Amino acid sequence: MRLKTFWIVSLVLVSSLPSFGWGQTGHRIVGEIATSQLKPCTEKKIAAILQGESLAMCSTWMDEVKSDKTYDHWDPWHYCTIGDHQSYAEAGSPSQGDILVKLDEITRELETKKFKHGGEANAIKILVHLLGDLHQPLHVGRGDDKGGNDFKIKYFGKSSNLHRIWDSDLIDGTQLSYTEYSQHLLRTTPQDRVKQHQSGSYLDWANESKVLRMAGIYPPADLENLSYSYGYENYSRLEERLVQAGVRLAMVLNRIYGC
Ligand SMILES: [Zn+2]
Repeated sequence: MRLKTFWIVSLVLVSSLPSFGWGQTGHRIVGEIATSQLKPCTEKKIAAILQGESLAMCSTWMDEVKSDKTYDHWDPWHYCTIGDHQSYAEAGSPSQGDILVKLDEITRELETKKFKHGGEANAIKILVHLLGDLHQPLHVGRGDDKGGNDFKIKYFGKSSNLHRIWDSDLIDGTQLSYTEYSQHLLRTTPQDRVKQHQSGSYLDWANESKVLRMAGIYPPADLENLSYSYGYENYSRLEERLVQAGVRLAMVLNRIYGC
């Protein structure tokens, strides 16, 4: 296939798919911010395991493998469901696992070096991706709209849905690359704020997503189009989640690999 045709076909396919997690830029921002907070020895060990690939670039691997049916059973690992009036314990985890179950498993694999998902590099790629997804508020779904995928709404006049707006429309709307956006976020986040973010458990961070989901990110049901005012109200929330995901990923990796 000629390159130009390939890109046209790819873009058509991507734009017609349901959204599954932060888009490429969002995941890469999380990986890039994490890299900036790694201890030198952690960074060295991870670079060797990933054979030089950056956390930013490997962060989307879990989405890339979706085109291979072998990985179909991984689809439910990108999210969890906690209803508005439930705790996670009350909601329970499904038999196929969910994002919290898998984050615990992968962390244990990295700590014990007993790998079940194809080795240490894959385990790191899964951790990078899922810790990012956990901070996208619509990855902790309320259980009735596929994490906002069924909440159809236009964004600047183009067909979209609430999940996709949070995955990629808002981020892509800035027209910044992942490195530009990461640098901006790092420059505007004081170090004491970084330290404040670096606490809590996976469950705490899932609950933060749930709280955010319930705190007004759902537009009124009769609204047909979102534009500047939605961004104005939500960019600071979205950017804080990207920063939190990145610095917490660094915290987890430093705990496992730091010396
Ligand atoms: Zn995902």
